[in-house]
This record gives sequence, C-alpha cells and structure tokens, in this order.
Amino acid sequence: MSIFTEEFNILELYTKQMNIYGDTGNSQILKKRMELYSLRSNILHYNIGDVFPTKVDIIVSGGGQDSSQMRVAEDLLSIKDHLKLHALNSTPMLVVCGMYQLFGNYFETSTGEKISGLSILDAHTVAQDKRLIGNVIASSNTFGTLVGYENHSGQTTLGAKATALAEQVSLGYGNDATSQTEGIIYKNVIGTYLHGPVLSKNPKLADYLINCAVTKRMGYEVQLTSNSVAKLDELVEQARKVAQKLRR
Ligand code: GLN
Repeated sequence: MSIFTEEFNILELYTKQMNIYGDTGNSQILKKRMELYSLRSNILHYNIGDVFPTKVDIIVSGGGQDSSQMRVAEDLLSIKDHLKLHALNSTPMLVVCGMYQLFGNYFETSTGEKISGLSILDAHTVAQDKRLIGNVIASSNTFGTLVGYENHSGQTTLGAKATALAEQVSLGYGNDATSQTEGIIYKNVIGTYLHGPVLSKNPKLADYLINCAVTKRMGYEVQLTSNSVAKLDELVEQARKVAQKLRR
C-alpha cells in the first residue's frame, strides 16, 4: 500500500460546539501540510449523535465555553472506548483547551459542576476565579518554542507520571497559574491550552501529528520532508518571530 494513494482521515470532534478561537483551523492546516507532502486527506466531522467513523488517522478537537463542554460531555463519554483504543494504538491526537480538559479525569466548572472526563490524559482541571487570558510563549524540550493564545478559567494539574508538552512557560500561564508548564503529551496525544489555531504558528506540532499518522500506517518510522513545506515554513517563521515579541 502506498501512503500516496490511500487517503488519510482527519477526524474533527464536535466541530459545532468545540471551535472557539478558530480551533477548527488545526484540521485545515493538517490537510494543507499533508497536501504539500503529496498526501491525500479528508476532514471528517463528528458531532453529537453521529456514528464514530471506522477509519481515522488523526483526531483533533478544539476549545469551548463551559456550556459547550457540558453539552458534549455525555456524548463524549459514549465514544470513550473508541478514543481510548485510538490513544492506546498511538493514533495522533490534538485536543485544545476545553477538549484537553475533557480528555483528563474531570473538569470542575466555575459554577461547581463536575464534568467527568475520559481519563485518557492523567490530569484534572478546576475552574478558578482568575481567567488566564493572553499571549503565551513556552519552551518544550521536544518541540522547541511554542507560541499561542490562552483564555481559560480552568487550571489543570498534571498527574505525577504525566509529561508536560512544554516544561517552561516564559510568557503567560499554560496549565495553571503556578507550575509554569503548558499542556501534556501522552503516547501520541497532545493536550494544549494554546489557541491560534495552535498549528498555524507551531509547525513542529503539525508535522509530529502527520509523521505519527504516516508511521502508524507504514509500520516503520517516517519523517517526511518537502521543499514546499520548507518554503511555507519560512513564512511561518516570520509569524513566529512576531509572536515571540508579543506581550500579554
Ligand atoms: N471553558 C473552559 C475554561 O474556561 C475551556 C475554555 C476554552 O476552551 N478556551 O477553562
């Protein structure tokens, strides 16, 4: 089987409810980058009550208000087995803010509602009075400098064995107001508070998700290269330079 013939499926969860700050842009960016790598892909949308698709290569989902999270919570638990199996089988996933919170053990909202999560990510979230809002710059040992925008009341505590996506936040907050960590990574599942959409200015994250999907399909380690992507990333680097000069 050639990776260049059979299409890849990017599954976007709860496009209608979990899409604040343009987070559905993440699936568009993955599709465009895969095209530049000469890979064909489809963006599938999963919404409340839909049948979970059988062939999924990458899963993405965005942020949402507390009310949106409560609206999707019950349906999300109904597809828990599918998502847990994908996580265990190293399907690459990107979950942003509100969905990051719901992939953890629970999210306790600002009104004291406790929304059960999927427990795919070893973390829990409790809303605080102080909303964490503004530009974020964080340093990751694996992905380098990450830039984005955060807006959340929930503060996330990582489990003792959990691995942060970025170990040092230098502007803004990330997971919470004190740890100076941002996001989480577990197998090929990335949770992050970064909106933007996050993949627009963090190509290493986008390529990680794509390479994981191709590696899974091929059964051996693949690191894609492309002159077209390199050219695009010259422009992205200019945007990153501007982003790294931003203040809160
Ligand atoms: N409603 C959640 C919170 O306020 C998530 C917000 C978001 O997805 N930006 O923490």
